[in-house]
Amino acid sequence: MSGSDPGEAQKHAVSQDAVSRDAASQDTERATRHAAERLALARRVAVLTGAGVSAASGVPTFRGSSGLWRNRRAEDLATPQAYARDPELVWEWYAARLALVRAAEPNAAHRALAALQSRTELSLATQNVDDLHERAGSRGVLELHGNLGYSRCEVCGGLERLEVGFALPPRCSRCGGRARPNVVWFGEPLPPGVLGAAVDAFETCEVALVLGTSALVEPAASLGRLAKRRGAFLIEVNPEPTPLSPWADLALRLEAVPGMAALSCF
Ligand SMILES: [Zn+2]
Repeated sequence: MSGSDPGEAQKHAVSQDAVSRDAASQDTERATRHAAERLALARRVAVLTGAGVSAASGVPTFRGSSGLWRNRRAEDLATPQAYARDPELVWEWYAARLALVRAAEPNAAHRALAALQSRTELSLATQNVDDLHERAGSRGVLELHGNLGYSRCEVCGGLERLEVGFALPPRCSRCGGRARPNVVWFGEPLPPGVLGAAVDAFETCEVALVLGTSALVEPAASLGRLAKRRGAFLIEVNPEPTPLSPWADLALRLEAVPGMAALSCF
């Protein structure tokens, strides 16, 4: 058994592992640098952001088991049925979320996207209902799921900005009608104009970036695929693999903030 000391063999295996790990991380580094270059040089960029981008500012996602509010799931509150049954309860939930959002600050990922928009033609669509992208300086944000900072009159459709501590349920100052949160609930269609603009942006971009979304709720996955089919370079940043990952030219397994930092090295 000379020359086959198990200790030596193990050491060799370990160092082989280390070599392939190094090679893999060098590959990722090279691919990330290439994606960062593509992003920096693209004339048209389309971006879609999801809950992961807000979570980095401390805004809870209200999804999954950690998202309970007074023992209720988001899926049981963010529906037309829940609102019809108990509008006051649904408004209390949105009032609590509004207070969290207004107390939150945009993070480095929001700011990196705003900075990129100042250098290139960038369309930014978001599934988030906070205003953190606007507050970071992004313009023309396509809010696919609306914005919880506004109420929408159920009679005349008028939008009004909400301030923390508003009387609920709010009423329209123009017609006195009852107002609902200006968000898209489960089972409701996305605002067609906003969705159309997002589709246009992803169809015509050179680089598409999908950031901080599990891509389970449409159109997250379909927008990325659309861009890819039209020849765009597709970058995904999300800690977990998603249905979009197989389509991506680069799938960075990072949270939003370190992900944008890795892509902003130019
Ligand atoms: Zn009204």
